[in-house]
Amino acid sequence: MSVKSSLTCLANTPFSYQVVVKSSALEQCAIDLSPTGSLKKSASSKLVIITDANVWKWHGHRLLSALEKAGAATPTPLVYILEPGEGSKSRATKEKVEDFMLSNRCLRDCFVLAFGGGVVGDLAGFVAATYMRGVPVIQLPTTLLAMVDSSVGGKTGLDTPAGKNLIGAFHQPRAVYADPTLLTTLPAREIANGMAEVVKCGLIADASLFELCELRADDILGKEIDSNILCDSATGRVLAFLDNSNKSDNGDKMLNSIVKTVKTRSLDLALVESLVHLACAVKVRVVSLDEREGGIRSTLNFGHTVGHGIEALMQPTLLHGECVAIGMVIEVEVSRALGHCETLLVARLKRVLSALKLPFRVPVDVSHGTGLQRCIDKMAIDKKNIASDSARVTRCVLLKSIGKVLEPPYTHAVQISLVMRLMSAAVSVRPSKTLALSSDIKTSSIVRAVTLHVPGSKSLSNRVLLLAALAKGTTVVRGLLHSDDTDVMLRCLSDIGAKAKYMEVDGKTLVEVTGTGGAFCLPPRNPAASGGLRHLYVQNAGTASRFLTAVLCLLPIPETNTSESEKTSLL
Ligand code: ADP
Ligand code: ZN
Repeated sequence: MSVKSSLTCLANTPFSYQVVVKSSALEQCAIDLSPTGSLKKSASSKLVIITDANVWKWHGHRLLSALEKAGAATPTPLVYILEPGEGSKSRATKEKVEDFMLSNRCLRDCFVLAFGGGVVGDLAGFVAATYMRGVPVIQLPTTLLAMVDSSVGGKTGLDTPAGKNLIGAFHQPRAVYADPTLLTTLPAREIANGMAEVVKCGLIADASLFELCELRADDILGKEIDSNILCDSATGRVLAFLDNSNKSDNGDKMLNSIVKTVKTRSLDLALVESLVHLACAVKVRVVSLDEREGGIRSTLNFGHTVGHGIEALMQPTLLHGECVAIGMVIEVEVSRALGHCETLLVARLKRVLSALKLPFRVPVDVSHGTGLQRCIDKMAIDKKNIASDSARVTRCVLLKSIGKVLEPPYTHAVQISLVMRLMSAAVSVRPSKTLALSSDIKTSSIVRAVTLHVPGSKSLSNRVLLLAALAKGTTVVRGLLHSDDTDVMLRCLSDIGAKAKYMEVDGKTLVEVTGTGGAFCLPPRNPAASGGLRHLYVQNAGTASRFLTAVLCLLPIPETNTSESEKTSLL
C-alpha cells in the first residue's frame, strides 16, 4: 500500500502541524530544526532533548549525528536523560527537568525535543506547555504506541498517586516525526502494545486498517534477529548498526569502541509505515474535528473505559495497550449485548488480538474475588467518565460495525451491571461437596442451594435444562431464554421422565424442573407411527437435538427383543 509520508493535523488553524511518517523521519526532523528549516528555529535558540536511558543508548548517537549533519547542532543541544518507565511521569521529575533548563539559561525561544516513548512525550510535552508559559515541543516518538497515539493530539501530563494523567495540559506539538526504523530495537511485546491502539483506530474509523491488521498480523511483529553493533566501550551507547559483512572493518577503525552482537527485530518497514500512517490519519482526522474532546475525540477512548479499570489493577504486570485490548473486547461485547453490532465482530476482534499476541480475556485477578468491584470503582473515577450516577452507569463508545461507532453523542451510558456480567468469571458447574458425599440425598437440610444465573443464550439454556433433568431433586431455573428450541427441549425431557413446569413468581416466568438423577425412561410410543415406534419429536430445533442425541445413550435398553418398533430415535 503506498501512502503519502505526511499528514496535517489541525489544518487551517494557527496550530496546524505536520505528522511525518517515513523511514528517515529522524533525519527529516534534524533538517527541519536547522536555522533554514521549516520549524523556524533561530540559530541562537537552544534545543533541549528530553529522552530516556534506553532510547539514548540505542539511538542518541544517530540523532546527534543527524543534527550535526543538518547544521542544527549549534548551540550544542542540551540532553536530559530520564530513568525509563512510568515512574518518570511525576511532578518531581518535571521539576528536575525545569531546573535543568533554568540552570542552562533556556529562554522563551528554546525548543523541546521529546525523543522517546509515551512517558518521555507526555512529560516533555507538559514541561514545554508550562516552561516560561509555553515553549514549542517537537515529538520524535520511538515506540509504536507513542507514534500512533500519544505523540499526536497535544495531550500532555503526568501521573500522581491518585491516578494516571490527572495533571496536564493540552499543548499541540510543533511537528511529529514517526520513524519506523527506530522500532527495530523495541521488544515484540512493546510492538504488540502499540498495535492495540492501531486495531482501535481501525475499529472506530477505518475498516481497511482493521483488515490490514487481520491480513498481516503474523508479519507485523517481525522476527528477532542477531545484529552487530558498534558501541562506545565507556558508555555502551550504540555508534552504528553494522552489517555482518563490515563488522570487523568498522570495529577496528574506531577508537574506544567495541563490536557487540545484540538482539534486534527485523520488521517489514513498509508495512509498519502503512500501519502508523493509517492510524495517525484516523487520529489526525478526529483531533482536527475536536481538539479538546467535547465530541468525536472521545471515540479515541474506545476500549479505554474498561481498559483503564483493568490497568489500575494490573499495572505494571500488563501494559497500557494490553489493558486496552481486553477493554476493547468487553466494550464490543457491551455493544453486541445492547444489539448494536453482530456477534461475529467479537470473534474477529479476539482473533486479530490473539494473532498479535495481545491478551483478550479478563485477567483472573480482575474477574475473581474482589477484583471486579475494585476494577469497576477505578472505572467510575476515571476522569474520562462523565456519568451522572457513577455508581450505576459508566460511559462507553459503542460500535456498530468495523470502522463505525454509534453516534452521536459518541459516548453512551451503560449499566455497570452489564459490564460486570461480561467481565465476571465464566459460570462453572461443580458437584456440590455435600451432595457428593451424602448417601442420603433426601436429607434436604444438607443439600446446599445453588443459584445459577443463565445468560440469554439458547445453547446455555438447553444445557441448564439438561443438567437440571440429570440432577436429583428440583431445580428452579430463572432467566431462561424462551425460544422454540427451549420449548422442544422441555417437552422432550418430560417425555423421558423429567418433570418440567412453568411458574410465575413476582411477575417473572420461572421453570421448575424435577430431575431423574440420570435414570431416564423411554419416551412414549407414537401411536401414529407404524409399529408404534418410540421417538422424541424435535421439530427443527437444532440446538435441542444436538444435546438430545447424546441423551439417547442414557435411555434404558428395552427388556423385550430389539425389534424395529423398540428403537428410539429423534425425529
Ligand atoms: P510507551 O508509553 O510509549 O509504551 P515508554 O516511554 O514507557 O512507552 O517506553 C516503553 C519502554 O521502551 C521503555 O523502557 C523505553 O525506555 C523503551 N524504549 C522506547 N523506545 C525504544 C526503542 N526505540 N528501542 C528500545 N527501547 C525503547
Ligand atoms: Zn490509549
